[in-house]
Amino acid sequence: MGLFSASQPVRVEIKGNPLHCVICQHQSFHRREVQINKLSLLTPDWADPVAICYECDNCGYLHWFMPK
Ligand SMILES: [Zn+2]
Repeated sequence: MGLFSASQPVRVEIKGNPLHCVICQHQSFHRREVQINKLSLLTPDWADPVAICYECDNCGYLHWFMPK
């Protein structure tokens, strides 16, 4: 499974607020789940070291979120 494997763009809500791309205001994103412990500089001992990022379907900007 590649980090940027193809997926259908989706609309995203964060705490009830629709996510707009901070660069182009687009509202469709590709959802990615990223294992933090594969990013070499970060080695936290979290129970679930997975970050969520949404890649703008228009400009490709990545919006990162940590699961709460
Ligand atoms: Zn964008």
